[in-house]
Amino acid sequence: MDYDVIIIGGGPAGLTAALYNARARLKILIIEGFSVPAQAVITDCIENYPGFPNGISGFELIENFKKQVQRFGAEFSVGNVEEIYPCKDKNLNGWKIEVEGKTYTSLALIIACGARPKKMNVPGEEKLQGRGVSYCATCDGALYRDKDIVVIGGGDTAVEEALFLTRFGKKVTLVHRRDRLRAAKVLQERAISNKKMEFVWDSITSEIIGEDKVKAVKIKNIKTEKESIISCDGVFIFVGYTPNTDFVKELLKMDKNGYIVTDTGMKTQSPGIFACGDCRQKLLRQVVTACGDGAVAAFSAQQYVEELKGEAYK
Ligand SMILES: Cc1cc2nc3c(=O)[nH]c(=O)nc-3n(C[C@H](O)[C@H](O)[C@H](O)COP(=O)(O)OP(=O)(O)OC[C@H]3O[C@@H](n4cnc5c(N)ncnc54)[C@H](O)[C@@H]3O)c2cc1C
Repeated sequence: MDYDVIIIGGGPAGLTAALYNARARLKILIIEGFSVPAQAVITDCIENYPGFPNGISGFELIENFKKQVQRFGAEFSVGNVEEIYPCKDKNLNGWKIEVEGKTYTSLALIIACGARPKKMNVPGEEKLQGRGVSYCATCDGALYRDKDIVVIGGGDTAVEEALFLTRFGKKVTLVHRRDRLRAAKVLQERAISNKKMEFVWDSITSEIIGEDKVKAVKIKNIKTEKESIISCDGVFIFVGYTPNTDFVKELLKMDKNGYIVTDTGMKTQSPGIFACGDCRQKLLRQVVTACGDGAVAAFSAQQYVEELKGEAYK
């Protein structure tokens, strides 16, 4: 086999798994996709990862994780994993993975492929993506200096990103389908007291209006059924996530939303495949829980590999 463990994903879960496996002196490869960025990288400021009293930018945190992993000699490669098959080498069972024309083999796999922001699938959304419709405030916020911005959603990410967008926008209107926010109280307090923010409650977006760029959003109040139009230059959508698990959907057990089912040791039902971070079924998807999962997955994978090689510490 080429490697003891291949880790798919270079976000907090994959990099923490890599750190633990590299320190255990396993031969590992980390494969980072390029079509979907690690969510942490597109986060302006992470305030709730312990150890950084003033918060840290997601980009900087991931760069630090990478430096730490490289210190222990892990190999990196870039590409989107397309398929995974079982394989055998010298009587040892393993996995073969295909990454855009290249093939790698390993005894164990750690899937840490994360999730991506969900689309609303309303008219105008697809057509105007990149022309006023965005799913990443850090990437696109600066394009909306002194402009009117609408943010859709009411969870932590929506409120955090709306607050970030107030640095640029003239006004940020947050449209939420409920009559109160789900975000952490500290974020709610900041949002409510921010003079640039306005709130439209009990409302869903039914259309994004514009020909070659966003001009407005059409919303409907779900209590009164009344429709109205909010003029704006940009719409930022934060209405949940879709796991990046299509490439393993034939291989692993998933829940109805496509999240990989694991036990508490991050084991999937396929021997030698472990899953960690936002791609797995769990209660709280955050950097700190992704890191915790990554450490556990790495430890389980290490035990599995040592057992296979007859090197287990008993
Ligand atoms: C806008 C935003 C703000 C957020 N703010 C916070 C916050 O303040 N605090 C906090 O704790 N959490 C925050 N989160 C959540 C946090 O970013 C995630 O919980 C965390 O990044 C999950 O880590 P992960 O490693 O599981 O997945 P990700 O960070 O999503 O990384 C997934 C990795 O898998 C790779 N990948 C995907 N598919 C493939 C494939 N087929 N082949 C190869 N590689 C692949 C990707 O390229 C990426 O490297 C935020 C998320 C968003 C989107």
